[in-house]
Amino acid sequence: MLLGPPGSGKGTQAARLAGQLSIPHISTGDILRAAVKAGTPLGKQVAGIMASGGLVGDALITDLVRDRLAEPDTANGFILDGYPRTAAQAAALDTMRPPDSLVVVLIQVPDDVIVKRMSSRRVCDNCGLTQSVAHDAVGEEQCPYCGGDLIRRPDDHPDTVRRRLETYAAAATPVIEYYRAREGFGEVNGLQHADRVNGALHAHIQRVMSPRLP
Ligand code: AMP
Repeated sequence: MLLGPPGSGKGTQAARLAGQLSIPHISTGDILRAAVKAGTPLGKQVAGIMASGGLVGDALITDLVRDRLAEPDTANGFILDGYPRTAAQAAALDTMRPPDSLVVVLIQVPDDVIVKRMSSRRVCDNCGLTQSVAHDAVGEEQCPYCGGDLIRRPDDHPDTVRRRLETYAAAATPVIEYYRAREGFGEVNGLQHADRVNGALHAHIQRVMSPRLP
């Protein structure tokens, strides 16, 4: 499980780890965004909350994660990204998997760095890849990988980013405290190059997992 503020590189690192370990990347934000894009009843229910930077209800998101973790592809593990976001969600997750089986990493990045990072963050409308642009122009860049349009997520607007950081700070502290005392908990400095963050994540997983393996 990766914890950390929006813009900490969590999503990028989660996708990379999932590929390296051949286990699914479960991002609640991605699942909700796909629902909004497809115009499903779930999408219609959460679109306004997401656009404003608030959190969707614990019960709704927990049902969604419980269903996803019941899929057979999670049998050998999974990377959880964006859940749990509240202490109630953390308690619910402990009913889905043995609490001691979780490996938890907090990626630390200061707020001012995040606001700067997110104002240059773009998502490709076609392939979904997240990347950053050199300046603050919106809607003028093309994806270097597939040629699709690079767009700013509505919730990456600087005013919304500040609201998301406030929401994060209020909700995340109890979640971090919930896990901090556990043997599987660790912290990684998210200011390092992405490759070093990836290396530190592997080192933590190795440290926690090796005594558990037969
Ligand atoms: P993310 O991509 O993780 O930043 O999530 C984008 C948005 O989806 C958040 O700002 C929330 O509105 C919603 N969201 C994602 N995960 C959760 C969660 N675990 N609990 C509540 N809301 C969530």
